[in-house]
Amino acid sequence: MRLFDAHCHLQDERLAGRLAEVLSRAEKAGVRRMLCCGCHERNWSTVLALAQAHPEIVPSFGIHPWYMEGRTAGWLKTLERFLAGHPSGVGEIGLDHAASPRADKEQEAVFIAQLRLARRLKRPVSLHCRKAWESLLGILHAEGGVEWGGLMHSYSGPAELVKPLEEMGLYISFSGAVTRPGNKRGQRALAAVSPDRLLIETDSPDLPPLGSPGAVNEPANLTLVAAGVADILGRSIDWVAEQTFANASRLLAGIINHGQWKIDS
Ligand SMILES: [Zn+2]
Repeated sequence: MRLFDAHCHLQDERLAGRLAEVLSRAEKAGVRRMLCCGCHERNWSTVLALAQAHPEIVPSFGIHPWYMEGRTAGWLKTLERFLAGHPSGVGEIGLDHAASPRADKEQEAVFIAQLRLARRLKRPVSLHCRKAWESLLGILHAEGGVEWGGLMHSYSGPAELVKPLEEMGLYISFSGAVTRPGNKRGQRALAAVSPDRLLIETDSPDLPPLGSPGAVNEPANLTLVAAGVADILGRSIDWVAEQTFANASRLLAGIINHGQWKIDS
């Protein structure tokens, strides 16, 4: 069984400080690749160093709506330098109407600038969206979708938005949150996703799934997400693993095949 963790933050100090054991448990669990997303300028070089040291880690760079505040005046130029210098994705980026302070206009400006950079450099995007679906869809429409593909991470929107998001070029990724028994909305959304657009993720070190051995989530727990998703869809865990591995590999092929991350290695 091969698994692809479509969204995690291995640069977080809760994981980076004991990375050898985290990666060894991931490998034993069958997690063959991980897309590791930076969230602000201060952790992009750590993400890059992790990816250069570990071929199973695929890097992505962006400014998350929670971390806009500390950005420098030259942030967009720095981001372009990271992206242009290395096969990598753009993210984690997006909108969050549950953030405080919300600063909607600033969030939108930072988000749009990164979407445009991703288009110009032909990179897939990793999107965060909380309680901001209308604004997100409006921006994606105005920007002509995500031309080089992308994923909605830890999808929490309604089932009705799954198709419109897929039509704009997005894959839909589910974390352990969907496996919680009370999460009927998430389970309905999961059932609405096309098989060739489905992804799974841990969002490590956050969102530990039910049954996680520790309070800090890590990529090895992707097996729990896969099992939960298989259960909801009435499929085998092997089907979920192979399908989502193939989908993530297709979405990220432009990065993986141009870096040290050869797709079938
Ligand atoms: Zn995240």
